[in-house]
Amino acid sequence: MGRVLAKEGLTDRQQGQVEVILQSGEMLHGLLNDLLDVSKIEAGKLTIEEGEVDLAEVARSSLATLSLMAAEKDVTVTLEIAPEAEGIFRGDPTRVRQIVNNLVSNALKFTSQGEIALKVSRPEGELRFAVRDTGIGISADKIGDLFQKFTQADPSITRRFGGTGLGLAISRELARLMGGDVSVESQEGIGSTFTVKLPLARLEGARSTLAVAEVEEAEFGDPGALRILVAEDNPVNQIVIQTILQQAGLNPVVVNDGQEAVNAWRESDWDLILMDAQMPVMDGLTATRAIRQEEARQGGHAPPSSP
Ligand code: ADP
Repeated sequence: MGRVLAKEGLTDRQQGQVEVILQSGEMLHGLLNDLLDVSKIEAGKLTIEEGEVDLAEVARSSLATLSLMAAEKDVTVTLEIAPEAEGIFRGDPTRVRQIVNNLVSNALKFTSQGEIALKVSRPEGELRFAVRDTGIGISADKIGDLFQKFTQADPSITRRFGGTGLGLAISRELARLMGGDVSVESQEGIGSTFTVKLPLARLEGARSTLAVAEVEEAEFGDPGALRILVAEDNPVNQIVIQTILQQAGLNPVVVNDGQEAVNAWRESDWDLILMDAQMPVMDGLTATRAIRQEEARQGGHAPPSSP
């Protein structure tokens, strides 16, 4: 809702205030996620999902975000990807991205000028991602403790740079759960290199899901003419989704559960149905199946569905 509000033609002063709300919300979100991860680690409940990891792609997208922010400082960013590290590997894509983002955002946070170099390689068949920076570095006596929870190089770090000292502990734990590790080499005042090793197996013949997920942008004459049905039981989410769609010039019809969605589908034609999964009376999956079955019986054209 903050992002919606930021586009509503506010005064500069109001725009600044909304930015503060957004940034604080994001910070709180990041902090909560870190605390949840730490609790899961302590409870032995942190699990790794089996999925497809494209480390080269993760590095490229992290470079894109990083370059924007580095441009505001006197820092250049480079990326080197070894050809043998390209492709799809078996691992947890969300957790790999989390490790990469943590190392990269640290490099940016602790580097005020010079260079941040990202490198993806695969020596001896083991995937590796390294971030080298020319930042403040870490003294030899502190380096051993950095991977401990709630540990920062010195007490002034929180005041100067913020943070909680949880990111590295979580990243190392995640890498270890995937059979790898995170290590660091650093010289105070010169810079640091953080390296994550991930012994992930290559998925032969797999195509990048990222490439598949690239969708062509469609042109609509009058978005307001599109018939969009939203099935969502949570009143707050109903307002959020309605507001976001209305800002894009769309006028959705909102129903409260899967049964109401099936009824609305029978009574009218829709260009798009946005279906929540968990709802009372009838959940979204059951409702989607019911709609698909009736469609198949009628032999009509079925719009594509996506999870
Ligand atoms: P946070 O960044 O929230 O403080 P982390 O666990 O990610 O927590 O990092 C722990 C500490 O390690 C940081 O507070 C900082 O002292 C040190 N550190 C991490 N990355 C770097 C880096 N690239 N350069 C210098 N110091 C770093």
